[in-house]
Amino acid sequence: MAKKQKDTRIQFNLSDFYVEKLKIEDGKLFFGTNTRLEEVCKLLELEPKKIARKLKLDKNENPVIDDDQVAEIAMIKGIEFEKVQDISEENVMSQIDSLVLTKEWDTPSFERQAIVTIMGHVDHGKTTLLDNIRKTKVTAGEAGGITQKIGAYQTTYNKTKITFIDTPGHAAFSEMRAKGASVTDIVVIIVAADDSLMPQTKESIEHAQAAGVPIIVAANKMDSPGANLDKVKTDLAGFGLSLEEWGGDIPVMPITATTGEGVDKLLEVIVTQWELLELKAFDNMNATGVVIETNTDPKRGSLTTVLVTNGTIKRSDNIIIGEYYTKVKAITDENGANLVEAHAGEPVELFGLGESPEVGSRFVVTNNPAEAKAITKTMVEVRKNKNRKVEVVANPNDIFAVLDNKKKQLNYIVKADSFGVLEAITKKIKELSTDDVDVNIISEGIGDFTLADMKLAESSGAKGICFNTKVQSSIRQDVLNKSVEVNEYSIIYKIFDEIEEAAASLKEKVFKETKIGEAKVLQIFEFSKIGTITGSVVTKGKFTNKAIVEVVRNGESIYKGEIESLKIEKDNVKSAANGKEFGLVFKNFHATKVDDQLIAYIIEEVK
Ligand code: GDP
Repeated sequence: MAKKQKDTRIQFNLSDFYVEKLKIEDGKLFFGTNTRLEEVCKLLELEPKKIARKLKLDKNENPVIDDDQVAEIAMIKGIEFEKVQDISEENVMSQIDSLVLTKEWDTPSFERQAIVTIMGHVDHGKTTLLDNIRKTKVTAGEAGGITQKIGAYQTTYNKTKITFIDTPGHAAFSEMRAKGASVTDIVVIIVAADDSLMPQTKESIEHAQAAGVPIIVAANKMDSPGANLDKVKTDLAGFGLSLEEWGGDIPVMPITATTGEGVDKLLEVIVTQWELLELKAFDNMNATGVVIETNTDPKRGSLTTVLVTNGTIKRSDNIIIGEYYTKVKAITDENGANLVEAHAGEPVELFGLGESPEVGSRFVVTNNPAEAKAITKTMVEVRKNKNRKVEVVANPNDIFAVLDNKKKQLNYIVKADSFGVLEAITKKIKELSTDDVDVNIISEGIGDFTLADMKLAESSGAKGICFNTKVQSSIRQDVLNKSVEVNEYSIIYKIFDEIEEAAASLKEKVFKETKIGEAKVLQIFEFSKIGTITGSVVTKGKFTNKAIVEVVRNGESIYKGEIESLKIEKDNVKSAANGKEFGLVFKNFHATKVDDQLIAYIIEEVK
């Protein structure tokens, strides 16, 4: 039996970066997610019993205390404080990325193959092109009869390996974008020369431009009697692309995907572009990468297709993938051949992970089980805590819009199963605006409701509409947790009925603003992470924690917004009566000054 070789890969000592340490540095208290009463008291040399009494905590349990409570303890001690970043999947991975970018140990010298995504309008020949490249150029092995289950595969052209990511059928591309993992180096936009630019062609171009990656256009179906290459070029230029032959940098390659005509030239251009990009990675390093697809094999269990973005992954490696810590039982290439290891730029399948991570999740190889277990456990806890904190509150912007007599807005994200239907639906929806309510479509597309759609809905307050499509199962729970409203339909007129209803109900709502109190700012306390605590005294009426507060300085209104917390001494309170001194933290404002006047309002719906 071969002797086990020493692992020389550079390893990440994650705890240096991410196991949160409660510490005092430069006279400041730094704290993380799961701080316990006793440890913080010990560090600040305070008596836990007394503090527990003050904060109304059960000292005997040595409880985990929340950020506000740590802040209060720091304030009792009179020390500044700062919350360190949460241990979340995103934070840990971006920490690793920045560590890799700073490349302190070396310069990356591994010449990495290009990762190419083919995108375009439906029926323009994406699948045919991928199949053509696959059949004729797949790396050695079982030519013909290859089962392609994997969402990515490699091909070799002129001794240069290229990785293609197969986007149809899954939303890997946009999900990966949403997670900020820009894995694609080159985008090939496929355009049928007999159809020219269609909505999804334009969308694909926008995706590629947003990702800032070089574009190559493949003008397909050149054999078709209706093919008009000049029209494609003119349309592309009209859409703002600067084509190579007209002095720009985007090549347009005529191809016939069905016969393979021109495909070699296309691959040649991809290789030329790859040479220009000079893609470099580290090789002798614990691998990092991203999940492209997940599947379950009835015999072998969960299969996870990943793309290695840096370093080397080996069979039997321990990895953190998404929020899980697990072991890689086997690695195979796209032809099912077992591999001992895989390198940057390579797409591979990992077996035996036990859990199915989400598409777009990141992974990192780690050799420190204790550290990995601690980190993943905290990731899950942090996420759960965050979800618990999500409250459904009225969108203050809407309320202000109403008070300002602005037209009310209903925003939608529409997903459908085909372009014809999508167009019909969006056209009709746009006609549903009324004198009081604007009905807007802020995004539309083909396919399921994805993570990117959810993020857009969350940030814009839009509702999702899926016609003959659905919310991706991997984000269903998140959609619920985040209170994003997405409805699935199979009968088209129901969509319009419901929008009309929503518009009518908005119209009927009238809001009224009532002044409930005034206060004067006496003192400002600055805390780096929590922000500004505005110490004030109520001079008229009362203040409540649900009030909207206006800040008036020298007779001029400078801000109006929601309250994050209202405190009397150390206690969070619901209201502060006339004459009471209180501390107020605004949700999104930290620039109050001594002598500012505060005016509290409540906003109510008039029935
Ligand atoms: P996708 O939806 O972009 O993946 O498109 P497909 O690859 O499924 O192709 C859609 C249709 O166009 C199929 O009927 C293909 O056979 C046809 N097609 C693809 N490439 C060509 C081509 O180069 N010439 C012609 N004439 N038809 C093509």
